[in-house]
Amino acid sequence: MEIIDGKKISAQIKEELREKTARLKEKGVVPGLAVVLVGDDPASQTYVRNKKKTCDELGYYSEEYILPADTTQETLDALIDRLNAEPKIHGILVQLPLPRHLNADHVIERILPQKDVDAFHPSNVGKIMIGKYDFLPCTPAGVMTLLDRSGIDVCGKKCVVLGRSNIVGKPQAMLLLHKNATVTICHSKTKDLAEITKQADVIVCAIGKAKFLTADMVSPGTVVIDVGINRDENGKLCGDVDFENVAPKTSFITPVPGGVGPMTIAMLMKNTMTAAMIAEGVSEG
Ligand code: NAP
Repeated sequence: MEIIDGKKISAQIKEELREKTARLKEKGVVPGLAVVLVGDDPASQTYVRNKKKTCDELGYYSEEYILPADTTQETLDALIDRLNAEPKIHGILVQLPLPRHLNADHVIERILPQKDVDAFHPSNVGKIMIGKYDFLPCTPAGVMTLLDRSGIDVCGKKCVVLGRSNIVGKPQAMLLLHKNATVTICHSKTKDLAEITKQADVIVCAIGKAKFLTADMVSPGTVVIDVGINRDENGKLCGDVDFENVAPKTSFITPVPGGVGPMTIAMLMKNTMTAAMIAEGVSEG
């Protein structure tokens, strides 16, 4: 069994991006990311802080907007319009979830697709569906990179994705399909889930339920990727996989924390770099 070290792989990617940023700077191009947070959700504040810090580490230009929880849709729209028109900003990220009175779908569609570094805009989602894309959604792209850099080829493999959300499950299934996996998507209405997971060569677990995937649901030698971020009964961070009991049965497994989580931010930075290169007409950094 091998534990896939997401921290190490994300550090490698960030280092590659840092070197590329230095080369791009010589051509007068500096990737720029704007991060917008509405409200004071502590987890979202941490995510936003980390994104700003990573921009600084890589040499990106960044702007941070922390708006009060009672911000109106009009105010948020006006900010997005301004950032859409700002040449120094190549990527715009509005931290989700938004307070209830704001419409997340509307906000996502307000961001120009070429600055939508989360790849949530319907235009980018459609491009992913047909396999012709500039940006990939960060978490599923992070999973694909972990598989790739661990030497795991999914071509022809039975891959089971647990969860069908628009931000993780569905795009994850599509990316695995693009790599020629045979993909099954499971959700809360799936019957005989364990029978399906037991046949998998690769399981990507993204349902948001602590330690849901147990050892009896996994066959020996399976690759298990855990996207979940939950708290266990003692308040300790844990994934969707019962790591302690599942890990010994697997060939590869990602831990939580230190698996998929660190990859999401690295992929966001990669998307911002891509957006900058396209906007500035630069082909190689
Ligand atoms: P979500 O929108 O709540 O979707 C959960 C999915 O799991 C739904 O499709 C749901 O099915 C399915 N599900 C729930 N209970 C199930 C069960 N008992 N059996 C089978 N399927 C079940 O969650 P999400 O946004 O995709 O996130 C999933 C997890 O990943 C969360 O823990 C989240 O915190 C984490 N996450 C991590 C990162 C990262 O960077 N590592 C990024 C994003 C999300 P239905 O569609 O039928 O309801």
